[in-house]
Amino acid sequence: MGKFLGYCCSICQTEYGPDEVIYTCPQDGGNLDVVLDYESIRQQISPDDLAESNNNSIWRYLPLIPVDDPGHPGTPLRAVGWTPLFTPTRLAHHLGLHHLWLKDDGRNPTASLKDRASAVVIARAQMIRARVVVTASTGNAGAALAGMAAAAGMPAVILAPKTAPQAKVAQLLIFGAQVFLVDGTYDQAFDLTLEAAEAFSWYCRNTGYNPFTAEGKKTAAFEICEQYTYAVGVVGEPPLHWETPDTVFVSVGDGNIISSLHKGFKDLLSLGWIDHIPKLFGIQSEGSAAIYNAFISGTEEIVPVEADTIADSISVDLPRDGLRALRAATQTKGAYLSVSDESILKAMQDLAREAAVFAEPAGATAYAGLVKAVADGLVGSDERILVLNTGNGLKDVQAAMKAAGEATVIGPTLEALKRVLR
Ligand SMILES: *Cc1c(COP(=O)(O)O)cnc(C)c1O
Ligand SMILES: [Zn+2]
Repeated sequence: MGKFLGYCCSICQTEYGPDEVIYTCPQDGGNLDVVLDYESIRQQISPDDLAESNNNSIWRYLPLIPVDDPGHPGTPLRAVGWTPLFTPTRLAHHLGLHHLWLKDDGRNPTASLKDRASAVVIARAQMIRARVVVTASTGNAGAALAGMAAAAGMPAVILAPKTAPQAKVAQLLIFGAQVFLVDGTYDQAFDLTLEAAEAFSWYCRNTGYNPFTAEGKKTAAFEICEQYTYAVGVVGEPPLHWETPDTVFVSVGDGNIISSLHKGFKDLLSLGWIDHIPKLFGIQSEGSAAIYNAFISGTEEIVPVEADTIADSISVDLPRDGLRALRAATQTKGAYLSVSDESILKAMQDLAREAAVFAEPAGATAYAGLVKAVADGLVGSDERILVLNTGNGLKDVQAAMKAAGEATVIGPTLEALKRVLR
């Protein structure tokens, strides 16, 4: 497999061969970026080839993903990605914006963006002949790993905090994973998972630890560019070159999604398929804002917080991919914003009522960030803006009810209905 050259540490820049390390830099614990052979990739695939592809999943980009074809045709493992890109005109109008797109990654097989990572981690697990996969999760990463493991017929172990929303726990269980709810925080579950993986020789998917999660999540950046190019109708004669939006809004917990998007755009820039990287805006909840705090104080030092927010998927004390996540904004002239739980609930309502997209709180956080950026004059009305929804609202019904309000109970008569009709 010519495309995969090895790893480079995000802290000390030391390079490692493909088989020299598994997870993080042995010298400083830094997260590893996968290094690809762009020359070889360019010979295998081009935007023109992709224009002809009828593979509507992340696997259309296989030459850019450092794993072998995972097999298992006809399973949800092959149905990850290629999520819809919407043009929510009412939402745009409401915000006074002329160009707005909404990509809905809640429409993945297990209903969150995490499927992109878990599918690629399962492919990697097969290559290194792992027998069991394990992950710590606030819910979605585990559901995705459990689902993708079920598709591949591989045993999975999931450690989630006891406070994880019920629907997410149901997903873990129904896919047949061994599920353990840790009486503690996500961060404690994270550390326990590392110990268990070591003790039992399980392959660990932990976010901001396993370098292959980013190689899966980066496919969202590929889709953003490819779909955006067709959405704005600027496709010319070959050789085809992709366009990008000006600005991308995404919610941030551990920071792996935003750093993966950054990696995906950097891959495309290195291949010469795009000519610039969009500004990346990372949105955190005020109750879980460690990376935002570092951004505001102008340092690269990420100080842990005691996380408390309705957006459980981004409720993180110590972001495990904080450094790369911070740089994703600073190196692209983007920014970090923090938003309140109230504004997240309001964003869930707006997304659902004006764009017909039902997002979980962490997914709607990105849109709440855009609302704030518009109010603060951080984006212009002619800017081409894309908001990424990362998870489906059915994953946390209690939070959705907080955003939606209660339904009125009536007697089974027209009279009763008339009395309460608005
Ligand atoms: C995991 C997750 C996030 C945040 O991703 P990080 O890599 O932790 O920053 C955002 N939204 C949803 C729905 C998620 O599941
Ligand atoms: Zn290092």
